[in-house]
Amino acid sequence: MKQLGRIMAFTKKLTPYYVIILVTSIFVTAANIVVPFIIGQATDTAVAAANGNTPVGQAVTTALWLAAAFLAIDVLSTVTSSIGGYFGDVMSQKMRAILSVRYYEKLLTLPQGYFDSELTGTITSRLNRSIAEVINFAKSFANSFFTTLMTVVAVLIVSAIYSPWLALLLAIVFPVYLWLTALTSKRWQRLEGEKNEEIDLAGGRFTEVVGQIRVVKSFVQELRELKIFSHRYVKTVDVTRDQSRHWHWMDFIRRAFMSLIFFAIYAIIFVNTARGNFSVGDMVLLIQLIALARQPIQSMSYIVDTAQHAIAGSKDYFDVMALVPSRRPALADSMSSEGVPDELVDLISDDDESQPSHPTSPSSVEIREEAAGDVAVSFEHVTFGYDDDPDVLSDVSFTISRGERVAFVGESGGGKTTLTSLLMGLYAPRSGEIRVFGRDVSNMHVGDLREEIGVVFQDAALFSGTIRENISYARPQATEEEIVAAAKRANARKFIEGFHSGYDTLIGERGLKLSGGQKQRISVARAILKDAQILVLDEATSALDTRSERQVQAGLESLMEDRTSLIIAHRLSTIATVDRIITLKDGRIDEVGTPAELAQTDGIYATLLALQNEGTKKAKKSL
Ligand code: ADP
Ligand code: MG
Repeated sequence: MKQLGRIMAFTKKLTPYYVIILVTSIFVTAANIVVPFIIGQATDTAVAAANGNTPVGQAVTTALWLAAAFLAIDVLSTVTSSIGGYFGDVMSQKMRAILSVRYYEKLLTLPQGYFDSELTGTITSRLNRSIAEVINFAKSFANSFFTTLMTVVAVLIVSAIYSPWLALLLAIVFPVYLWLTALTSKRWQRLEGEKNEEIDLAGGRFTEVVGQIRVVKSFVQELRELKIFSHRYVKTVDVTRDQSRHWHWMDFIRRAFMSLIFFAIYAIIFVNTARGNFSVGDMVLLIQLIALARQPIQSMSYIVDTAQHAIAGSKDYFDVMALVPSRRPALADSMSSEGVPDELVDLISDDDESQPSHPTSPSSVEIREEAAGDVAVSFEHVTFGYDDDPDVLSDVSFTISRGERVAFVGESGGGKTTLTSLLMGLYAPRSGEIRVFGRDVSNMHVGDLREEIGVVFQDAALFSGTIRENISYARPQATEEEIVAAAKRANARKFIEGFHSGYDTLIGERGLKLSGGQKQRISVARAILKDAQILVLDEATSALDTRSERQVQAGLESLMEDRTSLIIAHRLSTIATVDRIITLKDGRIDEVGTPAELAQTDGIYATLLALQNEGTKKAKKSL
């Protein structure tokens, strides 16, 4: 229930909608309650005429007037409930928009660590499911909760006038009904949680498998994947059996209890009418009123049901919303109206406590002016490990001067990629400091920090969409000339312009429709266009064949001109010309020196170099 309150608080901009829905529902309920009075009155008129107590002409006139009143009320209440329905629809969609945008906003601020351990599809499934359930509840709540409550209260008051016993019995129904419902709730919630977990995990695998369908196909694992998926759903059916059996037993008890109470209520009405305490009109009125109260009490069962789902759903929602954003959220001030519909910006912009503010940092350019000497990057006694894992890097210290090219060499899994992730502020070191142009990375606004760093990964990591969109990803406002120039420098212009649609060629999800070398040259063009001071090349050519590697290498050389570069390369031939090599061993810095110097020692670089040369010789011999 607490979570539902939080949703209300979350969507407090919808208050006018809540009020309109409340007012229309009050009106509709009032109209519903008046109807039994008219029918009661009509019955008494008819009975009086039949008994000869009133002249027939007069009775007919009264009856016609009552029918006209009935019509008027009916029309008014239909109109009002249509208005209420309209606002209800708009409200629920707005609610969906707010909750979805907030969730997405939250996700975008979460630290890299969150995404390391969650499947994309699970995140998506959780979002869709939990929001759908919350909305469903909001709708049924808006449509019937107030109406139900008001009907019950009105019926209570009217019946109290006729008989205190009636009122007492009616007064018991509601709270006992809710109490019986609450009894079922805990177990139900737990089972619902189990079920949701299975569905979300199935969703996670689903997305992953569809995304890597080539691998599934090539290892002929379709059947196994299908089994894993269907097992999860079989489990949800089993949970539902248990859950629903439990729920419907309790529902049976609730309804049986209601039936008993209503038996007593009808008995009181019939007996009193037979004894002449109530007129026939009174009896008709009361029967109608009770029917009016009975129906919504039963429909409470539906509201309660949707509320249960919403509580379970909103728990998942708020579990995510409660996660702590990374220390330097990139969103807060960079999320301008650009690209986001004004209405949504308006909805999420003000009174937002969930968004930790960060002090606006002075522009990076100013700082660079006053930065300590010529040092571009420095690591000072940096120690880091993932989560609770042992250290991946221990006491790593080095400095890189402006314009210098430094290569990192070490065994696979030695922490080279980790080092670059730390530099980009994706993770925080356990101890030590990392500086970029003299500024402590942990105090830098993430936008400023990443402004300074351009990256080319091993996996080109492109988005679906056009080549143009991908090249200009970091600078969507780049001109056509700039895009073409970047493509040219990246050695990509020729092949792009060879495509039928040129820069407008759609490249498929993650660039599926391009070759590895083509993708990588586009990602080099993207980095060129970003024009950052510091460049990180993490195995940028490792996945390529020799020919593609040469083509990409040419683009990289052009990219590295006049920039500070950190290079990680698998093939040592590609780093033979760097200024300095730093080798990592067991998470520590082992050696530092020029390629020529390190080739003379018996360290990792020399060992790996010897291995690779041997490989090349062998390859040459076998030709
Ligand atoms: P390299 O790039 O030198 O091959 P990495 O920096 O990728 O090495 O990995 C260093 C170590 O950290 C490895 O043991 C790897 O298993 C671990 N590691 C890498 N990324 C993560 C992650 N996101 N979560 C947990 N452990 C990780
Ligand atoms: Mg790596």
